[in-house]
Amino acid sequence: MTFKVFIFGCGAATPTLQHHPSSQVVNLHDKLFMVDCGEGTQMQCRKFGLGFQKISAIFISHLHGDHYLGLIGLLSSMHLLGRKQKLRIFGPPALKELVQINLELSATHLDYELEFFATNDQKKDLIFEDHTLQVYSLPLKHRVFCTGYLFEEKQRPFKVKKEAIEEYELMPSQILKLKKGEDIGLESGEIIKCSDVCITPPAPRKYAYCSDTIFQPELASLIQGVDLLYHESTFLETEKVRATQTFHSTASQAATIAKLANAKQLLLGHFSSRYRNDALFLDEARPIFDQAMLADEGLMVDIPYQPVH
Ligand SMILES: [Zn+2]
Ligand SMILES: [Zn+2]
Repeated sequence: MTFKVFIFGCGAATPTLQHHPSSQVVNLHDKLFMVDCGEGTQMQCRKFGLGFQKISAIFISHLHGDHYLGLIGLLSSMHLLGRKQKLRIFGPPALKELVQINLELSATHLDYELEFFATNDQKKDLIFEDHTLQVYSLPLKHRVFCTGYLFEEKQRPFKVKKEAIEEYELMPSQILKLKKGEDIGLESGEIIKCSDVCITPPAPRKYAYCSDTIFQPELASLIQGVDLLYHESTFLETEKVRATQTFHSTASQAATIAKLANAKQLLLGHFSSRYRNDALFLDEARPIFDQAMLADEGLMVDIPYQPVH
């Protein structure tokens, strides 16, 4: 089952030739979710071959321009290219009005429905769910209302071995119990243990997007055991005071969150344009959390299942 993160932009607020503003696409079980939509995101879709219409929902973290200024253009292009399918947009409460004013003032009519969901920046909140996955918003601390997002698979059922079904002549209701991980009792009094007759499914995978935020150790408890953490590292420790003043984090602080969260991998991003060499972020993060890597435009990170023990 697919679980991938594709980076379209990982720069901070000021434009550079090196990085685009924030945007990425999460492919979870072949459903595509866009997370943030900075200026120029639709050009990045074109460049990296992502069809606009395949995006089923967009999640906006906050209303700083480097995270949403590409949204209106993308919505218009979806219309021009013939979209009919409803689009869900999750984001700060003011986002709905902001988009509607833009559409109204430019007399833009969309041939598809937009459905807005206002996020809550005070607590972890389940905001989307279907039969295979859940998406939560995460409370971040920034200069304006801001949330991160946590994408999580649902636990897959246990697989009952065919031989066991035949040997014990299991009924559908008994198979259902085993699939949920429960043991069952036979009429003879014999107990059939799920672990003896089933193949254990891999642990559900999780991806957390945390940008933009001041260093917030309590965030770690909300994303415990996450397989991949994207955490902003706008600054290096040499600008730690500036990071705190502007409600951003350093690479060292991002690595500390990854460590506290027992993350398996850390993806650093939202790099300030003041630094010319991204490797400095990695040099700072790795002594604290060695499974750190740098985001980059065009980077695709696959999130594998962990081996079942
Ligand atoms: Zn930003
Ligand atoms: Zn911001």
